[in-house]
Amino acid sequence: MLKARIAGQSFFDYTCWLLRRLLLKLLAAFLTLAFSFAGYAQSSVPVRLNVDLTDAPRKIIHARMTMPVHPGPMTLLYPKWIPGEHEPDGPITDLAGLVFTANGQQIPWVRDDVNMFAFHITVPQGVSTLDIKLDFLATAPPSGFSAGASTSASLALLSWNEVVLYPSGTKPSQIQVQPSIRFPEGWQFGTALTRTGEANGEVQFAAVPLNMLIDSPVLAGRYFKEIPLATDVTPKHYLDMAADGPEDLAIKPQLVNAFSKLVRETGALYQSRHYNSYHFLVTLSDDVAHFGLEHHQSSDDRVGERTFIDDNLSYLEADLLPHEFTHSWNGKYRRPAGLNHDDYKDPMIGNLLWVYEGLTQYLGDVLAARSGIETDEQFRSTLAATAATMDNRPGRTWRDLQDTATAAQILYEAGPQWDNWRRNVDYYPEGELIWLDVDTTIRKLTHDKKSLNDFCARFEGVGGNTPPEVVPYTFNDVVAGLNDVVPYDWAGFLRERLTSKSSHAPLDGITQGGYRLVYTDQPGDFITARETANGEADAWWSIGLRITSDGHIDDVLVGSASDKAGLGPGMQIVAVDDRQYAPQVLGQAMLASKGTKQPIQMIVSNTGYYKIVNLDYHDGLRFRHLERVQGTPDYLDEILKPMTK
Ligand SMILES: [Zn+2]
Repeated sequence: MLKARIAGQSFFDYTCWLLRRLLLKLLAAFLTLAFSFAGYAQSSVPVRLNVDLTDAPRKIIHARMTMPVHPGPMTLLYPKWIPGEHEPDGPITDLAGLVFTANGQQIPWVRDDVNMFAFHITVPQGVSTLDIKLDFLATAPPSGFSAGASTSASLALLSWNEVVLYPSGTKPSQIQVQPSIRFPEGWQFGTALTRTGEANGEVQFAAVPLNMLIDSPVLAGRYFKEIPLATDVTPKHYLDMAADGPEDLAIKPQLVNAFSKLVRETGALYQSRHYNSYHFLVTLSDDVAHFGLEHHQSSDDRVGERTFIDDNLSYLEADLLPHEFTHSWNGKYRRPAGLNHDDYKDPMIGNLLWVYEGLTQYLGDVLAARSGIETDEQFRSTLAATAATMDNRPGRTWRDLQDTATAAQILYEAGPQWDNWRRNVDYYPEGELIWLDVDTTIRKLTHDKKSLNDFCARFEGVGGNTPPEVVPYTFNDVVAGLNDVVPYDWAGFLRERLTSKSSHAPLDGITQGGYRLVYTDQPGDFITARETANGEADAWWSIGLRITSDGHIDDVLVGSASDKAGLGPGMQIVAVDDRQYAPQVLGQAMLASKGTKQPIQMIVSNTGYYKIVNLDYHDGLRFRHLERVQGTPDYLDEILKPMTK
């Protein structure tokens, strides 16, 4: 049924689909009504949720809920599996000050012995309204995802899942919530929620289902700026920025124009939009976690304080906004069936994350180039780093790409040490290589008449323009969607790449695109930007080391000269060839050993012990690039051309 809907998109199929969805919704409404006579009282009265952000700069957020209830036993849940994070990382540890009251009397609670996210209470007779007070301790370090550091002296990002409980047994989509927020004096905010007014110092928002509330974070700050993007496009798009300092908001007009171009390019690519308006919520701070999290109508984009005023930092984050924006189509609207859970207590199945994240990684990078957020040369430099990293990844001989997706929920928290042997969430970078392979294969099969653009328009645009909703898919739907563009053994094509234990990465997309991966002694845009911005030394494709700015070894490439010499992650490089370690000193030592029989000598410290190691390496500096192969189709150049004027 779904296959026909995606493949044919005929009016008949679409009508049947709408009818089926209507019947399912009616059935769900009936079942909800039938089971609603204990605990939570589903009624026209929404749950009220008042959040107080005035103490956010002190890393504590206060919340108060008022919930209609029936007398009797009741279980309340704290959201556990957070959409887009693909793991059970709801920050339950930081929930504090939990007190239930009714009619002025405190009600005792007990946590479930097994489920740490569940609280049991008994609602007394005669009670119809439950009051819940809770605090969220925003004390996490600046790492991880939405539960990582979210506040500073001048700003706060509110993720609603951190400050709510909801009744067990009722789907979050069936719970209406009326939210309001008290902001610190003088702060402004951005969100996809609809502001309805202000009363008693609190900003009121329109009632929404709980799942939409959790999908609509709020960015607030003392130094705040909202810029409308692509004002000729409907629905409306906004760039909302909160920064640690006023100077960080001085974004260059060229970058604003590129973000407007991004809005137009997505319209051309996806031929649809699935939101009522869209807000890029960009936190510019060195004191918060750095990551991006997608939502239907907004994205939570947290980057370094100077990202929009420093060209190197802008380039290193070039794919962030296009990636999270693309998720509004690929991830939120079209979603793998296993990730389409409608209750935060239920586990997610990540086996199609190479589509959800891998395709998004590819399209996000392509859109960054098409929009002018980065240059084509910068795109190729980043792609070369991705290709070379995946091509020098010994872990791929024991763990296939499919397993990195299946195991996503235990891989996101993995550190960088021995990363190349464990593998990590490789379905992002290697997924990008596979979707480039798909794109160039379609172009090759159709003599450049069709491309992945056609797949995106049909797959992400099924049903045309819609409000936020989910249309799930399976592996077979993806295959059917590709076959609809051009018939081919797509199932075999994808399975071969997903289950390969080859020591080399799938680089056919690059060669079919008219380029090849080469190694030279010139670092190129990407490495130069990273070394300049972070002080990291990248000697990965030469001696096999990733080194932090203070000389700590982050990772050692299995099989490299450093591996054979006995170096390991966590060791500190003290000296290279008798000189105190600095990235430049290491570079000079590598140049000096080139073509000789002299090893590179290092003194390293390891948990309080020193040792001398000799690296048998003589190939000099070595960095990866994409080089054009003349006389072959230039599909990669074609792919980067904008679709709009
Ligand atoms: Zn993503």
